Amino acid sequence: MHSYDILIVGGGLVGASLVRALQGRGLRIAVVEAVQFETRTEAGYDDRAIALAHGTQRIFDSLDLWGDLEDDATPIHHIHVSDRGHCGFTRMDREEEGLTALGYVVPARVLGQVLGNVALSAEGVDLYCPATLADLNLEAEFATATLVRDDETLILTARLVVAADGAGSAVRDRLGIAVTERDYGQTAVIANITPQLPHRHVAFERFTDTGPMALLPMSAGRCAVVWTVDSRETGEVMGLSDGEFLCRLQERFGYRLGRFERVGRRQAYPLRLVKAKESVRHRLALVGNAAHTLHPIAGQGFNLGVRDIAVLAEVLVDAMSEGDDPGELAVLSRYDAWRRADHRQVTAFTDGMARLFTVSLPAMGMARAAGMLALDLLPPAKRLLTRLTMGRSGRIPRLARGLPL
Ligand SMILES: Cc1cc2nc3c(=O)[nH]c(=O)nc-3n(C[C@H](O)[C@H](O)[C@H](O)COP(=O)(O)OP(=O)(O)OC[C@H]3O[C@@H](n4cnc5c(N)ncnc54)[C@H](O)[C@@H]3O)c2cc1C
Repeated sequence: MHSYDILIVGGGLVGASLVRALQGRGLRIAVVEAVQFETRTEAGYDDRAIALAHGTQRIFDSLDLWGDLEDDATPIHHIHVSDRGHCGFTRMDREEEGLTALGYVVPARVLGQVLGNVALSAEGVDLYCPATLADLNLEAEFATATLVRDDETLILTARLVVAADGAGSAVRDRLGIAVTERDYGQTAVIANITPQLPHRHVAFERFTDTGPMALLPMSAGRCAVVWTVDSRETGEVMGLSDGEFLCRLQERFGYRLGRFERVGRRQAYPLRLVKAKESVRHRLALVGNAAHTLHPIAGQGFNLGVRDIAVLAEVLVDAMSEGDDPGELAVLSRYDAWRRADHRQVTAFTDGMARLFTVSLPAMGMARAAGMLALDLLPPAKRLLTRLTMGRSGRIPRLARGLPL
């Protein structure tokens, strides 16, 4: 039997970020991760991109990670939101916000490597990988987890278990934590493309009759495309030749970036909203996709997860400096209360956008155009959108203010 202060189930991007935030405080930390890490280090045309909000960049800077990510990060200077076939559009600019960038696009491969090297391999962190959680019990004094590694069964105890095990969370299942779920009936088809004209650091969000589409600026003149299609059409879209795929994309996006010249490998992700009905229990906290899996329409999922870990780490460090038990419900309820408004706002915003912008009735098109016009003309509405998009809503944790924990 091995005893820890904190057991993190899931060493994905969010779990690994939490390890980094809690490192070096004398805590005994264990991470259990089912999948062996990717060892590929070289950049490829098909690198998957992830948009980091300005707030996330600040958190990574406070965690001393940004220096390792910066060279691979493409800044976003403007965000352009438009509706195909309608005149309304809105823009967000870094100048208006007084920032050098509204956010950054980073290859997920680089994020994974940096977090893997700096956080998961750190001294004082026991990494069980590849290993899976087979059972979990929350008791008054500690939690007991059963892991399976190869043919071996291991028993671990911890004062706190953090579920960072993604959308299909085994922790949630084991403990019978209910979820609110919506199958959007949509699939995100992602690919990198090279347009004829430079992207000039603009991120495009475009709503089309067949679903929303995002183009994120990347290095080497590439853009990362996230195109949401009706799931019934996924097979057809995935089966198109590269030329046909680019034609479809071009038809929906238009010629703001000139002709699309090259496309890489396509990947498909079925989309659903999953929201856990509880974020904490005595000896348990949920973070990242285990707590909330969102439609990727606005690139919010990982950013929301990073804010979870920034707040959880702050609450835990403060509690321990007072001599409190980090797994006590009273401590974890502070995390829950602090995160509730951000979770609610970002989920409602993302879900609302996903549903509003996928209906193709003419009246909805007009409502969307009017909505975007209102957004552009009404400073408070636009400020809310900008704050959410940049990850600055609600009470800001110390790490996001550039302060140490
Ligand atoms: C197409 C697409 C585009 C996106 N773009 C963006 C974007 O631009 N910006 C953004 O902020 N977000 C984006 N997201 C969302 C983002 O990818 C996720 O929110 C984020 O990766 C979630 O990280 P996580 O660590 O919480 O979960 P995961 O990445 O799912 O990690 C969970 C980890 O737990 C492990 N695990 C699971 N079960 C077990 C078990 N039983 N035992 C041990 N280990 C286990 C898994 O192997 C995995 O490593 C996008 C999502 C999609 C689908």
